[in-house]
Amino acid sequence: MADIETDYLVVGAGAAGLAFTDTLVAHSDAEVVIVDRRDEPGGHWNDVYPFVQLHAPSALYGVASLSLGSDQIVQDGSPDHGFYERATAGQLMDYFRAVSDDVLEASGRVRVLTSTDYLGGDSDRHRIASLADGEETTVRVRRRLVDATWFETDVPSTHTPSFEVDNDARFMPINDLVDLDDSASGYTVIGAGKTGIDACLWLMRNGVDPADIRWVRPRDAWHLGRESYQPLELLPAFIEGQASLLESAAEAEGVDDLFARLEACGQLRRVDPEVEPTMYRCATVSNHELDELRRIDDVVRLGRVRRIDPDQLVLDEGTVATEPGRVHVDCSARGLRATRPQPMFEPDRITIQQTRSCQPTFNSALIGFLEASDRDDEERNRLAPPNPYPSDAVDWIPNSLISYQAQTRWGEAPDVGEWLEGCRLNLAGGLRSHLQNPVVQGAVTRIITNTESAVDNLARLAEQR
Ligand SMILES: Cc1cc2nc3c(=O)[nH]c(=O)nc-3n(C[C@H](O)[C@H](O)[C@H](O)COP(=O)(O)OP(=O)(O)OC[C@H]3O[C@@H](n4cnc5c(N)ncnc54)[C@H](O)[C@@H]3O)c2cc1C
Repeated sequence: MADIETDYLVVGAGAAGLAFTDTLVAHSDAEVVIVDRRDEPGGHWNDVYPFVQLHAPSALYGVASLSLGSDQIVQDGSPDHGFYERATAGQLMDYFRAVSDDVLEASGRVRVLTSTDYLGGDSDRHRIASLADGEETTVRVRRRLVDATWFETDVPSTHTPSFEVDNDARFMPINDLVDLDDSASGYTVIGAGKTGIDACLWLMRNGVDPADIRWVRPRDAWHLGRESYQPLELLPAFIEGQASLLESAAEAEGVDDLFARLEACGQLRRVDPEVEPTMYRCATVSNHELDELRRIDDVVRLGRVRRIDPDQLVLDEGTVATEPGRVHVDCSARGLRATRPQPMFEPDRITIQQTRSCQPTFNSALIGFLEASDRDDEERNRLAPPNPYPSDAVDWIPNSLISYQAQTRWGEAPDVGEWLEGCRLNLAGGLRSHLQNPVVQGAVTRIITNTESAVDNLARLAEQR
């Protein structure tokens, strides 16, 4: 006899598991049990560095039924002036606690079991164990197991670096920067992704001379422009950006030409205009942040770090001198995991992955909506094709291709279209209220004109990668 019976067992109470469940229960009468090893809901946000902020607007993040923050445009003269607010780690943790308690548990149909490990199972019987007392419980699942750990996010405070560190070298995860006194002779930031960017910006904001920062960038990256990815009142700029992006994708004569066009229209940006990026991880930066980052001249491009000694940094392609007083800041955690794609919907299982590029909580909610809808799995999988998380620069091409192919199919499904228009997690949500704006009208015309040829051309370019 099972100890618990439920319709869905969701493994992972991170943003993905919560966003999926929120939309599923809002559109069905399903009962759900969510389990997570961590003590609190919110997934990797439990362990992030204290000064982290979302890099995209709060207005687009979290679960569909509860706003995160107050959807305000920052008007304080700070570098974020003119953009929608972005939540801090503390605000995110408070938010996910409220989602868990006030939305999901309060529905009477969802139980969120934290400090609980998922141990495995077969088609309808699964085992979970309390991490408090080790007690095992069997869960009989009437409908499906939901794997919301597919993109489990690795952060510096909990990962193990892939390189060795001598005991006499000064080394710390980015989290510990806030506790540092001013005794460092300099700083070496290891990692070119969003965390590395945050470390460099935080150091400069806190008075460190850019000349005292060395930045190890094994790969340079393409980034998304924050100015182009703003919702609600600022949606016209996003729609215009999409029109330029699709035009670039439709007209590009080759891969290099495509990236040149995307940069020229402001959709993709890089820190160093002299270096061709080979990485793309969906990080978002503003022009102000790029200007700040360009103040750092000491950039090491010798591959990945292999060892940190007190007097030298050993990398794949060479060594650079360091000194015992220099602090080496670990920003090398991989973030979202690169994974093999698999069907989202299978007979006993849902595996939450991304369909639209770079919008994890939107995708999770979409999967919840499709699951609640009255259609078969073949159709669900057609509307939600897996779209592997990007890593290399050229991954921008299939990522965008799959996103646009899926969006075209959504447009042909009236219930999905209606849901998209009203979903707060959908960047293009609320478009109808802007359709009287001549700028938006022009952009929409360009989008309609170019989508088909952009999709065809991206498919051709994807073959050339
Ligand atoms: C610094 C940073 C900033 C970011 N900013 C943004 C942003 O602005 N906008 C955006 O859209 N995205 C952003 N992201 C991406 C972000 O990672 C995702 O939005 C999202 O939070 C990932 O959620 P997740 O639920 O998939 O993964 P996680 O948060 O990793 O959650 C997975 C959960 O599964 C649990 N788990 C795994 N295995 C088991 C098991 N066997 N039993 C029980 N529990 C298990 C884990 O404990 C974990 O809590 C950012 C990421 C980082 C690192």
